[in-house]
Amino acid sequence: MVKTVRGTSDILPFDIDTWQALELVSRNLLETYDYREIRTPIFEQAGLFQKSVGESTDIVSKEMYVFSDKKGRELALRPEGTASIARSFIEHNMNTQTLPVKLYYIGPFFRYERPQAGRTRQFHQIGAEAIGIEDAGLDAEIIDIAVQIPSKMGIKNLKVMLNSIGCEECRAKYVKQLLEHLKSRIKKLCADCNRRYSANPLRILDCKKSECIQLVKDGPTITENLCAKCRNKLETVEKHIKSLNIDYQIQPYLVRGLDYYTGVIFEIIHSQLGAQNVVAAGGRYDNLIEQMGGKSTPAVGFAAGIERMIMLLANKDFSNNSVYLAYLDFPMDKKVFAFLAGLRQNGIHTKTTYQKKTLKNQLKTAAKLGCKFSLILGVNELSKGTVILRDMKTSTQEEIKLDNAVSIIKKKFPL
Ligand SMILES: [Zn+2]
Ligand SMILES: [Zn+2]
Repeated sequence: MVKTVRGTSDILPFDIDTWQALELVSRNLLETYDYREIRTPIFEQAGLFQKSVGESTDIVSKEMYVFSDKKGRELALRPEGTASIARSFIEHNMNTQTLPVKLYYIGPFFRYERPQAGRTRQFHQIGAEAIGIEDAGLDAEIIDIAVQIPSKMGIKNLKVMLNSIGCEECRAKYVKQLLEHLKSRIKKLCADCNRRYSANPLRILDCKKSECIQLVKDGPTITENLCAKCRNKLETVEKHIKSLNIDYQIQPYLVRGLDYYTGVIFEIIHSQLGAQNVVAAGGRYDNLIEQMGGKSTPAVGFAAGIERMIMLLANKDFSNNSVYLAYLDFPMDKKVFAFLAGLRQNGIHTKTTYQKKTLKNQLKTAAKLGCKFSLILGVNELSKGTVILRDMKTSTQEEIKLDNAVSIIKKKFPL
């Protein structure tokens, strides 16, 4: 039989509650920060990512799904979100709108990598971009949102790793020093880093091989080479996130695996995730939009990995707040039917049986379906205008008025 492609998976109804809760929490939070959703195509011209993410990056050179369509156009499944948003910003002249333009997205992305825990070939991200204004307050806001999304879901012990990779001037100065430092030690670098030495030296900082990490640590850091403007910017971002009590530390070797970043960058890590420990990451990309043919436009953004957050939420219950209506006169009495419809019209997720079953059997089904409460409507209750509310976890019961059922259940389900 045909199965899912390696590195992809079905998200089954059984697992969907956490996904939906995460999406809901993210949307609500992003909307309160005045971000609006944007939905760009899943595939784009391959050149978009080559020019923005960078030809020499792993994402473009090794991991991108590139294919030709029937007319021979070279297309790619999107490996990340920012390039498409920058394209859309230019294509729709969003620079004429009130700035900053604040956008967010939730959706699938694709990279051909070796699948492992927290890394799949189709993966999902929640991301946001604030485009058009250079203020450090927006960098801090983006970091704040990227921390708050997992925090609001109950993920604790997140740590922000913060750095600045400077502007073109201070970065060029640093890269020169780095190359100088590595020159006599180039034979000790791994094969990939030997290639990076001439193609993209900053990426050597991102190498996970111990020999390369050691060589880099013996050398200069970008943080100590920042120009006054870049240093000031980083310090302002620090002040802002400190005021929010966000746990952070300066990580002077932090770089990102995409070429478009400038200035302040960050990663949010969680120790429980192991090798793939980055929950969210982002930073400033002030030159990207101009590079892609738009006007010079500063911007900052982040993306968070949904699969990684889901891994950290494995022990939490986000199952639907549903109730089960158990009744005993079959076929369904019109008063029972009206009560059932009323629950649903009032937004209460209600399950029931439509075939004759004993009360014991119905309650068993309610437990199996994960309903938090059952409403038991027998002939007696119906004549009295009451209903029995049963807490499925504690098995405690109380008799309540039919008319009060909606408001009582709503109080039990605060979401
Ligand atoms: Zn600078
Ligand atoms: Zn290396």
